Amino acid sequence: MKIAILSRNEKLYSTKRLIEACEQRGHGVEVIDTLSCYMNITSNNPKIHYKGRILDEFDAIIPRIGSDVTFYGTSVVRQFEMMGVYTLNKSIAITRSRDKLRSMQILAGHNIALPITGFASSADDIKDLIQMVGGAPLVVKLLEGTQGLGVVLAETNKAAESVLGAFMELKANILVQEYVKEAQGADIRCFVIEDKVVASIKRQAPDGEFRSNLHRGGTASLVEISNQEKGLAIQAAKVLGLSVAGVDILRTQKGPVVIEVNSSPGLEGIETASKVDIASLIIEYIENNSTIENKKSKNN
Ligand code: ADP
Repeated sequence: MKIAILSRNEKLYSTKRLIEACEQRGHGVEVIDTLSCYMNITSNNPKIHYKGRILDEFDAIIPRIGSDVTFYGTSVVRQFEMMGVYTLNKSIAITRSRDKLRSMQILAGHNIALPITGFASSADDIKDLIQMVGGAPLVVKLLEGTQGLGVVLAETNKAAESVLGAFMELKANILVQEYVKEAQGADIRCFVIEDKVVASIKRQAPDGEFRSNLHRGGTASLVEISNQEKGLAIQAAKVLGLSVAGVDILRTQKGPVVIEVNSSPGLEGIETASKVDIASLIIEYIENNSTIENKKSKNN
């Protein structure tokens, strides 16, 4: 097969590992810089141009779309879809998962357990909003934030009121969430490939920090997860339409809840801690599924 990895940086660990896995399994592979793709969207003849050539040789693409290029990146993925090229995660699923509010609404609509979460735009509703999620301590999240930036813990109602007021004044889109204290600064990252959790790690925040993101100094270790947690992670990826996803779970007194579903989950932390060759599992998944999908589209 000829596989394209849509990525802005071929030196990233995840991109490098995917290249290695493609080569080991005998596939041709090329890293395509998402932002250097330009498109002809003529009816019946969609094309992607790249550095002066037309990209028409690929059987499959692996989108690794950074959150800063979601808009353009998903339109490139959509163009590949229109050309009949198999894509590991569909553009619509990436778009859904990138918007925290939209994805939480979809997850809630499918009865996936979530922390109590509220959303409002007007400063008049701040007090009510705080009550709605059970009062302080609570977590305020910028909808566009990633890697833990834009996630704030407000310890008192007064602090919550002023943080919410400030964000609203700046017209930032935010959500408010009950603080899951019993998680003790840890979350579980489940790496899902279709109907399996192929690896899971626990990420622990450093002392004095509640955000466990590895970019915020969190540390990763191997963790056993329950069947309930596995089922929750698989279901969350499925309802968003993601074949491959990193599903983040918090362990609460009432059981596991999903806090985020990532459509381009990083491989470094999880491969290192779990010793699972996730890159090869992804390529194997593409081998099995792209042929089925390509056959289907030929028969239609
Ligand atoms: P980001 O997309 O920026 O990573 P998250 O929603 O995943 O934002 O939050 C970052 C981290 O903050 C999580 O990994 C988790 O450790 C912690 N966290 C998030 N929401 C809560 C919450 N409701 N209660 C307790 N900790 C939380």
